[in-house]
Amino acid sequence: MSRNLETELLVVGGGLAGFAAALEAAQAGVNVVLLEKMAATGGSSAMSGGCLAFAGTDLQAAQGVEDSAELLKRDLLEVGLHENDPALVQTYVDHQLATYEWLKAQGVAFSPVIEASSGQSVPRVHTVDPADTVRLLEARCRASGRVTILLDTRATRLLRDSETAPVRGAQATGKDGELSIWASRGVLLASGGFGRNAEMVHRFAPQYDNAVFVGGDGNVGDGLAMARKLGADMRDMIYIKGTYGKHPVDMLNHHSCLAVYKGAIAVNEHGKRFVDESISYKLLGDAVMAQPYHTSFQIFDQPIFDSGDDRVRILDFSRRLEEGLIIQADTLQALARQIEVPYEELQATVERYNGFCDAGEDEEFGRRKLVHHHGELRRIETGPFYAYPSTAAVFGTYCGLRVDAGLRVLDVFGDAIGGLYAAGEVIGGFHGGAYMTGSALGKAVVLGRVAATSAAQG
Ligand SMILES: Cc1cc2nc3c(=O)[nH]c(=O)nc-3n(C[C@H](O)[C@H](O)[C@H](O)COP(=O)(O)OP(=O)(O)OC[C@H]3O[C@@H](n4cnc5c(N)ncnc54)[C@H](O)[C@@H]3O)c2cc1C
Repeated sequence: MSRNLETELLVVGGGLAGFAAALEAAQAGVNVVLLEKMAATGGSSAMSGGCLAFAGTDLQAAQGVEDSAELLKRDLLEVGLHENDPALVQTYVDHQLATYEWLKAQGVAFSPVIEASSGQSVPRVHTVDPADTVRLLEARCRASGRVTILLDTRATRLLRDSETAPVRGAQATGKDGELSIWASRGVLLASGGFGRNAEMVHRFAPQYDNAVFVGGDGNVGDGLAMARKLGADMRDMIYIKGTYGKHPVDMLNHHSCLAVYKGAIAVNEHGKRFVDESISYKLLGDAVMAQPYHTSFQIFDQPIFDSGDDRVRILDFSRRLEEGLIIQADTLQALARQIEVPYEELQATVERYNGFCDAGEDEEFGRRKLVHHHGELRRIETGPFYAYPSTAAVFGTYCGLRVDAGLRVLDVFGDAIGGLYAAGEVIGGFHGGAYMTGSALGKAVVLGRVAATSAAQG
């Protein structure tokens, strides 16, 4: 027999979007039930690199970085190839700084902003310990006395009285069987992406069949399926992209390593470059998938190695070396032998590239900077030399439900589906064609709060 539970707002998913939304709603005086299908909360958020994109913060000012909401907006639209929904980007831009302050007020600690990041005109990556951040927001939710968290409980269907009535809850399966949760203010989907559903990824992005897939185990697209059953529209599905810089076989360190953003070049198994290495690591992901065996090597020298940053997972070269993932050799020739790339080709590639560095112009692929608009090109010349085997990993799907600027889910005719809200990786329309570092976690927390406010206001 199905049990019944009543609340005001039902949040589906216990990652950053879900907890930001639940806490925001609770702070507005709304009672919430939050469902998490796994035994533990966290989702992809807890496994992530912890980078969030904010503009105009005190941390940036303290480091002499001049940034603004306008510049952030321009960058988001530019990196998204203007395929993103400007209204949704505007919502993010309007609420990001207040959300940064809100996170600090909850006790979240940020590290100094980091320099090298995909798609950013100025440094704006604010780093947190991601698992701690989810735990902290979860603890705040529990302490509010307004949020009931049900683990091991999977939402399966959305509930409404008729086809035209607003969504008023969800059917769920928990440890003790079936459950109907009725929510007077509606349902907020924060169930993440579908990166762990290989069949579904294949349907939209078959070019990534051979990528590595990393992400929360529960992220198989439940939220999308439930909303689509009600006629929800989707956006950005053709822009599923892997992130460049994932070791092809190692699964212990699931983060990308981006020596290219410090000056490395990327070469394929023939020792040839194939791309402007300064572009978004999502576009680099597309480029590596088109190479033989979908793989490549990031090639760099000692000064580039030394410019890594141990505080930032994607730039922590020392740790990769300790883990045996970065290959080191005294000479370029010895390195070529170890990675089984023809030495003559690799040498010619490095020499040609060093010439481009001197000339300030890459005649082959048009690389001008190390990353986006930052950093002067660096010659690769001082041993020891390093190689990092790199393919693309699908860390998230960054596409999904079409929503309006208030995070209301829209149907295929562009009408809001009453009582249904969504935030985080389950939505489409925010990133468009590519991705700025920190904008997925940023989107989860910023838009999670906005969705909760919309739901609270009805
Ligand atoms: C290794 C890695 C590194 C990353 N690094 C960064 C980074 O540094 N910066 C950045 O911006 N982005 C990063 N990302 C992406 C980012 O982490 C995600 O886009 C973001 O965390 C998504 O948050 P979310 O709350 O929407 O989803 P999640 O955190 O995935 O949470 C969704 C939750 O919903 C649950 N759920 C799913 N279906 C149901 C259901 N039917 N019922 C109940 N619960 C359900 C899931 O189990 C999960 O716990 C990274 C991702 C990975 C995997």
